[in-house]
Amino acid sequence: MRNILITGGAGFIGSHVVRLFVNKYPDYHIVNLDKLTYAGNLANLEDIEGRPNYTFVKADIADLDEMRRIIRDYEIDGIIHLAAESHVDRSIKDPFTFARTNVMGTLALLQAAREYWESLPEKYESKRFYHISTDEVYGALELTHPEGVDAPFSTKASSGKKHEAYGSLFFTEETKYNPHSPYSASKASSDHFVRAYHDTYGMPTIVTNCSNNYGPYQFPEKLIPLFINNIRHGKPLPVYGKGENVRDWLYVEDHARAIDLIFHKGKTADTYNIGGFNEWKNIDLIKVIIKTVDRLLGNPEGESERLITYVTDRLGHDMRYAIDSRKLQRELGWEPSLQFEEGIEKTVRWYLDHQDWMDRITSGDYLRYYDDMYSNR
Ligand code: NAD
Repeated sequence: MRNILITGGAGFIGSHVVRLFVNKYPDYHIVNLDKLTYAGNLANLEDIEGRPNYTFVKADIADLDEMRRIIRDYEIDGIIHLAAESHVDRSIKDPFTFARTNVMGTLALLQAAREYWESLPEKYESKRFYHISTDEVYGALELTHPEGVDAPFSTKASSGKKHEAYGSLFFTEETKYNPHSPYSASKASSDHFVRAYHDTYGMPTIVTNCSNNYGPYQFPEKLIPLFINNIRHGKPLPVYGKGENVRDWLYVEDHARAIDLIFHKGKTADTYNIGGFNEWKNIDLIKVIIKTVDRLLGNPEGESERLITYVTDRLGHDMRYAIDSRKLQRELGWEPSLQFEEGIEKTVRWYLDHQDWMDRITSGDYLRYYDDMYSNR
């Protein structure tokens, strides 16, 4: 496999995947296709700009003719599809954009790849369409142990603290889809289209569903970079509801490593869940961030806790996501490489050291959006 199309490569996770592939596979030609929405930023990839095995193409995945042209012109053999509208709060305000990009965009990409691959003498041989999705498609789990209990499993990601789970149920690859937000509904729909292209046309597809990612280059509307930046500027830290919601967290480079492994070794038509067995209640996670930022900035311990501001809960806010990633560990030998506290420390240091990146992003559109979201609460 030589020509790999990575969509959404200027975004948070996509930029880590593009960097990994460009550095690790000099014999591959990596084509990064991105529309450069508010969330896409080529500054995320400055270090690989100009590499001989890397090309950036600005395009909209929902434009079928463009997808046909790009896949044919670059003779694409494999696709790793990450381009999406990805922020739940935005999906509540504007669900149509999510349906257009996440559903129609994925469909256009599938169709363009099918037409090109079926026109080749070897057809689907050595081809792969890999779709990146979220654990949010599975719906929500109950918070049956509000104070946390010992988790039945753990990984390196969770080994830094007494590992806690907030319920006995986990999402497995067999869990029935039950999305609640417009974002998760659009991702669920796109997952179904990908599987339908395998079942109907024989396209060699693969789908993975991952828990919350954190790390460098994440757009600062998402919790961790938003809070690091707000603490630095002494701005309020808006916490939904009582901060009781629980999420599993995985360092973004560990997700990128899993994507590399699954792209090359995963079983066609299969699904893998990716997660860290590393559950955190939002409010506890926020306190870890505050502690780390305050320490690194030389502030008195806990000083920034005064910035915590409880705001009206997100509409339809799912209580708990917890993912069982043992299949991926068992079948392909993947596991997280970073302990959570190490990952958070690395992440906070990165944002504090890259204020110029943050400043460029937090001017313009982002600020208007931020004011719109939080000024009336
Ligand atoms: P992101 O919002 O940071 O990046 C998305 C990228 O897609 C941006 O570069 C944007 O410009 C591009 N894009 C958006 N619409 C496009 C269009 N119509 N055509 C072409 N490009 C377009 O998102 P992310 O957090 O990096 O997520 C990447 C993927 O991983 C998404 O599919 C998301 O659903 C999935 N995912 C994310 C997480 C997470 O915690 N961030 C967890 C699990 C799965």
